[in-house]
Amino acid sequence: MNIFKKAEPQTIEVLGEPLKCPVCRNELFWTRRVQLNTSMATFFNLDWANRSATCFVCSNCTHISWFLGDR
Ligand SMILES: [Zn+2]
Repeated sequence: MNIFKKAEPQTIEVLGEPLKCPVCRNELFWTRRVQLNTSMATFFNLDWANRSATCFVCSNCTHISWFLGDR
């Protein structure tokens, strides 16, 4: 997980609400934008959609919250 240590974790807002880790209730996350590959997009039935996703990695327990599209 050393690649996540370069940036300071931040609080994230989703639909006007602060994002909290469902595991440890932490509110600080690292943000990563990822391109979904074709097999993943097919798995999620996303062939019609934007194939990028944003993931927020909990700075405490490293649980990843995924959101489709750019945030
Ligand atoms: Zn956590």
